[in-house]
Amino acid sequence: MASKNRAALVNKALKVVKKHFKPAAPAVKDRSLLEHLVFACCVENSPYEAAERVFQSLKSDYFDWNEVRVTKPYEVRESLSAVADGREQGKAEVIVSALQKINEGGFGDCERCGEAIAEKRLEALPFARYCIECQRAVEEEERTAAH
Ligand SMILES: [Zn+2]
Repeated sequence: MASKNRAALVNKALKVVKKHFKPAAPAVKDRSLLEHLVFACCVENSPYEAAERVFQSLKSDYFDWNEVRVTKPYEVRESLSAVADGREQGKAEVIVSALQKINEGGFGDCERCGEAIAEKRLEALPFARYCIECQRAVEEEERTAAH
């Protein structure tokens, strides 16, 4: 059953990531699903060139994406320090968590309430951590905590 769920999860992930990339459509046809997913993390809020640098750095520094997944996020962050500034290095956490979500299940589920995140939202933001309601609630909590 677990493997069936995982296949469904991977299909869902691939579908939203493909839609996510449709408008920009960089030359990524030869990339695997995991590479699409990792690149989706890299390019979120970043210029394409910066995303490409981070992506290529991970590809050359690690044996495979499985190795990235089991590496501590701060170590991945350090390995990026040569090619990326602080904001780009922050992608390390997102990338490791995304790889874990695909591997362990839970891709596309809200981390706060556990409900499935709307597909439209995932298409815009494949690695959204929260559904839209929880995102608002979390932002509200952060705003309140800042005072
Ligand atoms: Zn939620």
